[in-house]
Amino acid sequence: MTQLDHLRARVRAFLAEELAERRFTPHCDSWLVGNDRAFSRRLGAQHLIGLMLPTEFGGGGGGVADRLVVSEELLAAGAPVAAHWFAERQFAPSLLRHGTSAQQLEWLPRITGGEACIAIGLSEPDAGSDLAAVRTRAVASEGGWRITGTKIWTSGAHLADAMVVLARTGGERHAGLTQFIVRLPNPDVTVRPIRLISGEHHFNEVSFTEAFVPDADVLGEIGNGWTQAMQELAFERAGPERYLSTLPLLQAMVEGLGPQPADPGAVGRIIADISTFRVVNQRVIEHLAAGDTAAIDIAMLKSSATAFEQRSVAVALDLAADPGRVSPPSTEAATLLRESQFQAPGFTIRGGTNEVLRGIVSKGLLR
Ligand SMILES: Cc1cc2nc3c(=O)[nH]c(=O)nc-3n(C[C@H](O)[C@H](O)[C@H](O)COP(=O)(O)OP(=O)(O)OC[C@H]3O[C@@H](n4cnc5c(N)ncnc54)[C@H](O)[C@@H]3O)c2cc1C
Repeated sequence: MTQLDHLRARVRAFLAEELAERRFTPHCDSWLVGNDRAFSRRLGAQHLIGLMLPTEFGGGGGGVADRLVVSEELLAAGAPVAAHWFAERQFAPSLLRHGTSAQQLEWLPRITGGEACIAIGLSEPDAGSDLAAVRTRAVASEGGWRITGTKIWTSGAHLADAMVVLARTGGERHAGLTQFIVRLPNPDVTVRPIRLISGEHHFNEVSFTEAFVPDADVLGEIGNGWTQAMQELAFERAGPERYLSTLPLLQAMVEGLGPQPADPGAVGRIIADISTFRVVNQRVIEHLAAGDTAAIDIAMLKSSATAFEQRSVAVALDLAADPGRVSPPSTEAATLLRESQFQAPGFTIRGGTNEVLRGIVSKGLLR
């Protein structure tokens, strides 16, 4: 058994115990909708968060493959990982690269312990695909900055300890943007829910009215926000959650499928797709971890992987209705299907739309 096999077995044993104790119910898209701080803390206590982070901060000191193994198992199980997901995925690498030692000392051990829930404050009502149009403004004030503006579609802001906010400190477009760590709750920050048609609440509109942020909570250099946000977005776009969000659904639908399904190749094609994404994903993250921007590779991977995710919901519908089933889909499978149908439109939008990603690919190739 290799060290990675051991690690995978360790995560599986942890998840089997959690399920046996009925501590969580599997969900699709669990990295976005499954916010369970107690679960994240238990995972952190097993040293299963921050596998790539330095050991001095409670991390595993490992490589890309370690984190990938843990992420794959958590996503496949539909485990409620949203409370720590953004913090581990993009805030931690950004802190390592741009944070002060005080910020690293404060946040990184909390992240590896599963104690830090972070929201991403990029999108605004008039700045989504065109992120350089950010209008949220930060004005220098004694000992810090005062932020005024509105962010939208902020996943988990109502549950977060802090939000990393991209705001304008001067200049135009890409120049003059800066990142701030805004602690929540905050009397000058209003978090309003934006509910899905199903009534679920996971994203928000967040308004800032001269919200004070001390100098100590500026992330990185003043004016370097665009570069930093793009580095974070690369980690956001390149994760295995881009092709594994619906795996709990697909697994549930394969159960009960008879030996002679209507489309014998359907399951094989899914496995072939996921296997291909896994190989490409590992290579892309290795490049990223080595400091390469890998922008074109990431854009290609994310746009094709999220298109697959959307397709997978249609495949699950076919599998549910397959005349060759030996048993009908379980109640749990039917719930996963319903949830995925609500989530699916967002797969190709969040983290940058597929149209925009294809634009990055074509411009990059032309250059
Ligand atoms: C589930 C979910 C979670 C999210 N969570 C967060 C979060 O936590 N934090 C955060 O900051 N944001 C979050 N977002 C917001 C997301 O990043 C934006 O929705 C996305 O970047 C698109 O921006 P927009 O909604 O303003 O659409 P627009 O930019 O207005 O785009 C509208 C349409 O025009 C197309 N379009 C725009 N520009 C071009 C172009 N140049 N070429 C071709 N087509 C173009 C787009 O593809 C799209 O189809 C989330 C979104 C979703 C769906």
